[in-house]
Amino acid sequence: MVQTRIADSILDARCDTPMVRLHKVVPKDSAEILAKIEFFGPSGSVKDRIAAFMIERAEERGDLRPGYRIVEATTGNTGIAFALAGLVKGYPVTIVMPQGMSEERKKILRAYGAEVLFTSGSETDVDKCLEMVNRIRASDDKVWVPGQFTSTDNVLAHEMTTGPEIVRQAGKNIDAFVAGVGSGGTLMGVARHFMKEGIGARIVAVEPEECAILSGGRNDRHRIEGIGDGFIPEIVDSDLIDDIETVRDSDAIAMARRLAGEEGVLCGISSGANVVAALRSGRRLGKGGRIVTLIPDTGMRYFSTDLFKEE
Ligand code: PMP
Repeated sequence: MVQTRIADSILDARCDTPMVRLHKVVPKDSAEILAKIEFFGPSGSVKDRIAAFMIERAEERGDLRPGYRIVEATTGNTGIAFALAGLVKGYPVTIVMPQGMSEERKKILRAYGAEVLFTSGSETDVDKCLEMVNRIRASDDKVWVPGQFTSTDNVLAHEMTTGPEIVRQAGKNIDAFVAGVGSGGTLMGVARHFMKEGIGARIVAVEPEECAILSGGRNDRHRIEGIGDGFIPEIVDSDLIDDIETVRDSDAIAMARRLAGEEGVLCGISSGANVVAALRSGRRLGKGGRIVTLIPDTGMRYFSTDLFKEE
């Protein structure tokens, strides 16, 4: 990635992330695996794409005006991206998150000046967070709630940026696009862009085996922060999904460690899950195939989690 212009603010330096070919974790007889490295975003995750975009769309509609507060329920990265985007655009930000999310995420939110409120639910209990956001909204009319799980602007941000960037970088000969489903914005947006461009890549959703709602499995606790929130978000159109891959959290962690130690890609646990799933498609497709996946965030956000636990 070479930026040849001056960004007017840190927020303006978003998108246009690099795409990197993986080598050491990919078996010789596999299709190639190309990973879009989203930790190059200004707040360090894929969510930088949606925060500024959703704010600008809400301003255009008049839903968000000077003097308003942005309030969002999130397991972390979306909150961090909105904290940064709100800071740069001049809105105070309140983030509601479940107790038990990684310490790093809370500290980053506070560094960007956001207020952080906690629910009493477990790590993956996003429902309780949404309830608290609704209570705040009902008591204050100068509140704007982005609503990443229901807003089509979330999908549109990826349709307008992630999808076109992938096609610019990898061309149209893509056999599969593999991504974990949190809100589903990434997967849906890219799928829609591919459809528009006539790209017949298989759209592969990734979810934790311990919380496999899309494939009708268990709904338990898991360690893949950012995906598998325990419900199917409104913006997820299952007609756009060709395959669903479930990945055990221990396998996701093991792969995230290999990505750091062998490829030099220090990434989060959901990145490990994406690559585990991409490799399954890669094995099926075989040599000559091309698979694109995503590294949604950096491993530096996980120092206090099992990803960095010495065994
Ligand atoms: N991985 C991580 C680390 C995330 O924070 C998110 C967003 N919650 C995702 C994957 C999934 O992205 P999306 O919300 O676009 O489905």
